[in-house]
Amino acid sequence: MDIAAAISGITSALGLVKELRDINAQFDQAELKLKIADLTEALSEAKLGLVDVAEELQAKDAEIANLKEQLQFRATKLVDQGHFRYFADEQGKAAGVPVCPVCETKGLFLKLAQDRSKGAGSVTYVCPSCKANYGYHGVVARA
Ligand SMILES: [Zn+2]
Repeated sequence: MDIAAAISGITSALGLVKELRDINAQFDQAELKLKIADLTEALSEAKLGLVDVAEELQAKDAEIANLKEQLQFRATKLVDQGHFRYFADEQGKAAGVPVCPVCETKGLFLKLAQDRSKGAGSVTYVCPSCKANYGYHGVVARA
């Protein structure tokens, strides 16, 4: 249940409360009991809806915290140079091989690795996770 459905459930419950007020309690005992049962059901559904909303909010808080952490990491540890992003050295300059841009979008900061499987003359730079191939040269940070 989303927040709109929970609000709608509470609105129904409030409508039942208004109907309860209009019942003459002394003469309409059966109708009164029926309305109280409806009200109890409407409030129970609205409560379950709010439990769902609370869980969704918690999940969003966790995601926001994770994204903040990633932003902080990018801001303090990584440096852009050309088309790539690198880990920064002590002077804050791009160093070594870049992180995989594909995996970075998923929150993974993985340095490219050399693929030497095709022999010394055909070394390429690949991501150790997604296996994206970034070619033979031009990826190492310039001093
Ligand atoms: Zn990758």
